[in-house]
Amino acid sequence: MAKKTKTVKSIKVNADLCNGCRACEMACSAFHSEPKYSSNNPARSRISVIRRPLEDIYVPVYAGEYTPAECLGRNSYILDGKEYKECEFCRASCPSRGDFKEPDSGLPLKCDMCESIPALDEPLCVKWCMVGALEYEEREVEVDEEEEQPKVSEMELGLEHLVDKFGLHKVAESVARLTKKED
Ligand code: SF4
Ligand code: SF4
Repeated sequence: MAKKTKTVKSIKVNADLCNGCRACEMACSAFHSEPKYSSNNPARSRISVIRRPLEDIYVPVYAGEYTPAECLGRNSYILDGKEYKECEFCRASCPSRGDFKEPDSGLPLKCDMCESIPALDEPLCVKWCMVGALEYEEREVEVDEEEEQPKVSEMELGLEHLVDKFGLHKVAESVARLTKKED
């Protein structure tokens, strides 16, 4: 099978260094506002900091995939004697909770590694984490050409969510109505 190389982008989180300042959330929401940098609101961020000062708990978590159904089971963790609540480390935008959803529309939010043209040297959350709790890394890996999944755009992600919520027929009707207005 034909091979090709792809760039894997990752952010290494050193939770021991995080102080819960939430600069990463502010930077992320500002970068993704329309127009860019016009506002900031941590509720619109694609990174969310588990922040419980009285328990000395600060852990940044990145928004991952949208899922239309919640898990059948739940997990909680105890690390270094500190207890983390059910689902706290989960990266999914899931119907069982409000995390990683755009607060006005309810559409899922997902970290896109600050993709933009021209490309940034490093994601904004990494740049604005002044204590170095977030470290950006890139590596090249070889993959089978056929195995690589097509990228799902933010718009497709939102449409998938709307279809799950209202049904394909209603979404199609709305799109048809909007198309007529545009004509
Ligand atoms: S990498 Fe970019 S999109 Fe992802 S959480 Fe950080 S600032 Fe937000
Ligand atoms: S900017 Fe860094 S230190 Fe501040 S909350 Fe985010 S990860 Fe933690």
